[in-house]
Amino acid sequence: MSQMMQSMERVSYYQGAVQLADAHCHLDMLDDPKAAVNEAVANGVSIIITSGGSRKANEATTAIAKSLGVYGVVGIDPSFAVSDREYVDQSAGLIRKNMQLIGIGEIGLDASVLDRSGIGAQREVFARQIDIANELDIPAVIHSRGMIKEVIRLLDEHPANRAMFHFFEGDEAQARYLARKGHMISIPPRDDGRRKRVIKETDLSSMVAETDCPVAGRSPSDVRGVIASISSIKNIGFGEVAEQVSENVKGFFHI
Ligand SMILES: [Zn+2]
Repeated sequence: MSQMMQSMERVSYYQGAVQLADAHCHLDMLDDPKAAVNEAVANGVSIIITSGGSRKANEATTAIAKSLGVYGVVGIDPSFAVSDREYVDQSAGLIRKNMQLIGIGEIGLDASVLDRSGIGAQREVFARQIDIANELDIPAVIHSRGMIKEVIRLLDEHPANRAMFHFFEGDEAQARYLARKGHMISIPPRDDGRRKRVIKETDLSSMVAETDCPVAGRSPSDVRGVIASISSIKNIGFGEVAEQVSENVKGFFHI
């Protein structure tokens, strides 16, 4: 076989056999979730984890996961730590009833909503949901806007067995620390200097890619761009990065 044919075969192998994964997005916030999923699947992105975060978003996420054949996580995010605190325990019931729901999220702390969700309520709701994730033996999907240090400190006192740090905004030392504990660092479609260092210094085995669409990306298809950017920053081929980060999602969430 000629070399050209061999390399063509390799390219088609990567395009055809690897199911790419968007580790975190919000399909319920899109105008047409079905069109976005179809577009993603056509682009090889066939593992999609859509995230809830409030009572309303959790119901929508459950319905979308069931009807569109994607995966979902449900939980109460820090913005709703006061308004939806009585629905914290509801997630466990939803997860037990729906095979498609595979994690608790997004949960955590957020510096930008302290006016409506005080730090006491945020911590309490976060800690209760870590317990639920551990009890159900599923990952906790962590939100840490402006509070990565506080989130790491809380997890040191109140450990999650498996945590995926969605839209990771810490530095490379924090990424290394969390990776050593078996947690997953999720890379969004944003490249700043600090995130480039995180990508460079974190082992691929502890990394996943997300779009957080529509907050950052436009649709789950955009995870290809995140994978391409990891590939160029780490100087590892697209196919190898695509395969590893997508396998990480499957392994971490037991898909
Ligand atoms: Zn999100």
